[in-house]
Amino acid sequence: MEDVLCDFCAAAWTPERAMVEGHRGSCICHACLAVAYAELSPQPARQPIGQGPCTMCLEDRGEPHWQSPARDAARICRRCARMAAVVLERDPDAGWSRPQA
Ligand SMILES: [Zn+2]
Ligand SMILES: [Zn+2]
Repeated sequence: MEDVLCDFCAAAWTPERAMVEGHRGSCICHACLAVAYAELSPQPARQPIGQGPCTMCLEDRGEPHWQSPARDAARICRRCARMAAVVLERDPDAGWSRPQA
């Protein structure tokens, strides 16, 4: 488990740091997801339309993206942020709930 790192902040996956997996082993931790969700879920999102593919789904949907401040190439689209929030909220071990706007 120590080998799994958050693509957005490079923190390791631990029991205290819940993560959600995307495609090809990409992961986002609960802390990064909270920031990304808060930036992306409002209408309109607080972030611009991203350039290039999302790290989690590998697609460029022309949606707002949250770009990791820690890792240049890491970005998550609005759709993935919402899906990851749903997954993490359903995980009883994560104890996570989406930030209220
Ligand atoms: Zn992270
Ligand atoms: Zn995506």
